[in-house]
Amino acid sequence: MIKIDRIIRSNRKTVALIIQSDGSLWVRAPLRSDRREIERIVQEKADWIQSRKRKITLEYSATRPYQFKEGEAIYYLGATYPLVISDEMGNYLKFDAQRFLISRQALPYAPHIFTRWYRRQAREIIGRRVEALSELYGCSYHRIRITSARSRWGSCGAKGTLNFTWRLVMAPSPVIDYVITHELMHLKIKNHSKEFWRAVAMWIPEYKNSKNWLRINGQRLMQLL
Ligand SMILES: [Zn+2]
Repeated sequence: MIKIDRIIRSNRKTVALIIQSDGSLWVRAPLRSDRREIERIVQEKADWIQSRKRKITLEYSATRPYQFKEGEAIYYLGATYPLVISDEMGNYLKFDAQRFLISRQALPYAPHIFTRWYRRQAREIIGRRVEALSELYGCSYHRIRITSARSRWGSCGAKGTLNFTWRLVMAPSPVIDYVITHELMHLKIKNHSKEFWRAVAMWIPEYKNSKNWLRINGQRLMQLL
């Protein structure tokens, strides 16, 4: 028997089942549908509801910060690599394009060590792309600042300073390019007018894919570390 957590009636024709991120079941139903009919639909869809609940609670639990456990998925440039804890490594942290290796004695400082590692990658990768793209677009900026913002991927200061959070290097390269392009276009157009989006689309016609990617995955990435 599936429990309905909430029924929202509105001026609609069909019944819709919505599983919330905490696994609760909400039902949207027509104004005059009766409770027994809703119950019947819900029980009919029991298998589907159960599997959605499992999937969503799994995704939801994945929004926890890194635990730095053996085999944990570590994000870098839109992919994940397993974390391997090593007993005989001199270095604190190593990335070999297959996995992240961390020495056991460094484990207590893992959040700090990983933050530093991401920051370094961000400075290098974002720095390189800003240079290339600003040249391509013919715009000049003052300087790049790598921040640890959790609320935004990038911003453009009044004096032409471009700010990017180091968390951006967890995202795929096309997304990084989109965020950089977005901020570079802000050098000329400060707002999010139609003109602004046209300017972005001129360089990255498929920029909406990246916007969507950030909408779906952004929050999770921001909370990892
Ligand atoms: Zn903007």
